Amino acid sequence: MLHGPGDLRVEDVPDPDGEVLVTVEAATACATDLKALRHGHLILGPYPARFGHETVGVRHDTGERVLVGDSVACGTCIACAAGRTQLCPDMTWVLGGFAERIAAPVAALHAVPDGLAAAGAAMAEPLAAAVHAVARAGDTHDAAVLGGGTMGLMLARLLVLEGRDVTLCDRHPQRRAQAEALGARAVDALGRHELVMEAVGRPESWRVAIDRTLPGGTVVLVGGCPAGSDVTLPSGPLHYAELDVRGAFHHTPPEVDHALALLGSGDVDWRTLAGKRIGLEGLYDGLVRPNGGEARKLVVDPRL
Ligand SMILES: [Zn+2]
Ligand SMILES: [Zn+2]
Repeated sequence: MLHGPGDLRVEDVPDPDGEVLVTVEAATACATDLKALRHGHLILGPYPARFGHETVGVRHDTGERVLVGDSVACGTCIACAAGRTQLCPDMTWVLGGFAERIAAPVAALHAVPDGLAAAGAAMAEPLAAAVHAVARAGDTHDAAVLGGGTMGLMLARLLVLEGRDVTLCDRHPQRRAQAEALGARAVDALGRHELVMEAVGRPESWRVAIDRTLPGGTVVLVGGCPAGSDVTLPSGPLHYAELDVRGAFHHTPPEVDHALALLGSGDVDWRTLAGKRIGLEGLYDGLVRPNGGEARKLVVDPRL
C-alpha cells in the first residue's frame, strides 16, 4: 500500500472489492510505478492506495488465467464512440497488481495464451502501448527509435517484425546490444530518419526527435515528459519541413489482445526483457535502485 509519496508499506489488508477477484501470479513494473511511488500519480486512488498495473493471475470464479487490463473506458463518450477508447476522459483505472490479490471489472480481463508464463503475459500491458504507438507511425521503411529502455526495445522489435529498416539510439552499450539482438541496428548518436519514435520522455529528447526527422517525416512522441512540462520546440522543421508530429498514449483492448498473441507466439520474446524476480518485500528497493545498463523489467511475484 502507498501511504504517501515515498511511503510504501507491505501490510495485511482485506481483499479488494470488485467484480472478479484474481490471485496474482506476476506483476511487472515500469517507470510509471516508480513515478507513482515517488510523487503520487493522478490515476492513483486516495491514500492508502494500491498500485501496480501490469498484472497476471488466476480468476477466483472460473480458474482461468488472465491479464488484468489496467483500464476500462466508459464506452459512451465521444472518444469511445470514435473507437479511440485510450482517450476516454472517464476511464476507470484498475490498479493493485503489487499484491496477492487484485479485484477487477470483467471488462478489464483478457485471456492469456496457453503456455505463456505469467511474467511474459504481464508485459502485454506495455507492449500494447508499443503496438498502439507503431499503429500511429505511418508506413515508412526507414524507422528510428530514440531511447533503448524497455519501451524503446519493444518499439524496435515491432518495427523489425513489420519488415522495416530499424535504427535504435541509446548511449548505454548494453541496451544497444539488446536492440541488435532484436534485429535493429544500434547507434549512440542518431542520424536523420523518415520516422523517429521518441521513447525517453524528456523535453530535450522530444527536441532531438524533431531535429533528427527528415523533411516530410513523422515523429511519434511515446515517452511522457514529467507532469506539467512545457516543451519548447523549433519552429523551422515543424513548419518548413512539414513534420507530422503525433502523440501516442496507452492502448485499446484489441491492442492488448494483439500484444498477448505476439508474446504467446514468441515474436516478441519476453525473456529478453525480463529482469529480477522479487517478492513484495523487495519492491521498494527494486523500484528505486537503478538496475545498471541493461533495460529489463522488474518482475514481482507476491508468492515469493
Ligand atoms: Zn507500465
Ligand atoms: Zn469514454
